[in-house]
Amino acid sequence: MVRVSRVLPGSISDEMGVVAGTELLTVNGRPLADFLDWEFLTAEDELVIEARLPDGQEIVYELERPEGEVLGVELEPPTVRRCANKCEFCFIEGLPQGLRKPLYMRDDDYRLSFAYGNFATLSNVKERDIARILEYRLSPLYVSVHATPHEARKVLLNNPRVPDIVAQLTRLAAGGIQFHCQMVVVPGMNDGDVLEASLRDLWALGDAVLSVALVPVGLTQFSHLYTGKPMDAVNAGLILDAVERWEERALAERGDRWVFGSDELYLLSERPLPNAEHYGDFSQIENGVGAVAALRARVSEGLDELPRLEGKRIGVVTGVSMGALMPELIDKLTERTGASFELLIMENSLFGPTTTTAGLLVGADIRRALAGRHDLDLALIPAETINDDGLFLDDERFVALRETLPMPVFPSYDFIDVLALEGEPHLSGHAA
Ligand code: SF4
Repeated sequence: MVRVSRVLPGSISDEMGVVAGTELLTVNGRPLADFLDWEFLTAEDELVIEARLPDGQEIVYELERPEGEVLGVELEPPTVRRCANKCEFCFIEGLPQGLRKPLYMRDDDYRLSFAYGNFATLSNVKERDIARILEYRLSPLYVSVHATPHEARKVLLNNPRVPDIVAQLTRLAAGGIQFHCQMVVVPGMNDGDVLEASLRDLWALGDAVLSVALVPVGLTQFSHLYTGKPMDAVNAGLILDAVERWEERALAERGDRWVFGSDELYLLSERPLPNAEHYGDFSQIENGVGAVAALRARVSEGLDELPRLEGKRIGVVTGVSMGALMPELIDKLTERTGASFELLIMENSLFGPTTTTAGLLVGADIRRALAGRHDLDLALIPAETINDDGLFLDDERFVALRETLPMPVFPSYDFIDVLALEGEPHLSGHAA
C-alpha cells in the first residue's frame, strides 16, 4: 500500500475523487509496495486501481488514461532501507552527538539509488529486489563497490554477510542494468592490489559499468570506528596514477575516460585539476568529481552577465580545501566587476580540521567569519551548506543567522548566480 500525500488540482486523480490520505492498494491486480510499483505499474494506458479512502471506504477506479496525461498524485515518502554495514570510514559514524535525528540515518536503498542517485552497496537486497530491478529496469544504479575481492569488501563494509558484488553486478548487467560505481579508498585496505583488482573486475563488466569514481576516505575528529591511516598526498598521488593508467586504456578501447579521481585527490596530491572537458557529462559531480572544473567553467561563462560593482566590498566564505583554488576565480571576478573581494577561509568547527569541504561548513563557522564585519557590503556563503529546510548541519537556521549579521548574506553556488543580480536596483544589497 502507498498513501497519497497530495493530489494536483484538476488532475485525473482529482477528478476521480482521490484525496490526500487515500491508500492506493493495487494497480491491475498487482499490490503496491512503494513509489516504484506505482510509477511503473501505472505506466499502462488502461488501469484498474483499488484504493481505500481516508474514511475507510474501498473503491475501484477503472480508467483509460488520455495519452501523455499524468495521474497527478504525490505519495508519502517511502520508509528508507537502513544500511546493514558498519564501515570504519562511515561519515555518519563520524558525526558528533546531538545533531538532528535524520542526519544519523544510514540509508542503503537501491530505490533511492535509481530515483535520486544515492549510492547503495546492494548488501541488503533480497531476491525479490533483484527481480524488481530487472523487471522495472532500474538503470543506471549508483553502487558503492569499494572493493570487488569478496574478503576485502567484507572487511571494508565491516559486514561478514555481504553478498559477492561481482556476482550481483554480473547478474544485473545480464538483465541490461548499468551502473555508476564508487570506491571510497582507504589506505592499506583497498588501495594498491585491491584497487587494481577491483578496477579489473569492473572493467570486465563491459558497458554495464558507465563510470567509476575513486574518492579518498573522509574522516572527522569523531570517526571513532576508524583504525586505518588517513589519506595523504603520497597515497592520493598513487590513486591518481591508477586513474591515469586506467583512463588511458579506457580512452583507447572505449573512447571515454571511465574512471575518475575525485577533486579531493587532486587537491591532496597538489596536482592540477583537469578542466571541464575531462569530465564529459559530469555523471559523478555529486560525488565531488569535477565540481571544481564545473565551477571554473560556470564562472568563465558567466562573467559577461556581471555588472560593474566598483566600490563594493564582498566577503566570500569558503572551506580550507577550496581556499587555495579561489584566488584565480576571485581575480577574474575582480577584473570584471571592479569590486573588492575578501576570501574568508574557515576551518570546520563542528567536524574538526580534517573536514575541509566548503559545503560542510556549519552555521557557527559562517557566524565566526562574518560577525562584526561592518566593513563588508555583502557576503557569499556556499549554498551547499544549507539544506532544503534552510538549516545548516549544526541546526542553525539560515534566515535567523542572517538576521544577526551586519551585511546581506547570500548562499551562492557559483558567484554568478548572486552577483549577476547585484546590478538590479530592487535586488541589490537585499538577502534572498
Ligand atoms: S555503507 Fe558504510 S559508509 Fe555507507 S552508510 Fe553504510 S556504514 Fe556508512
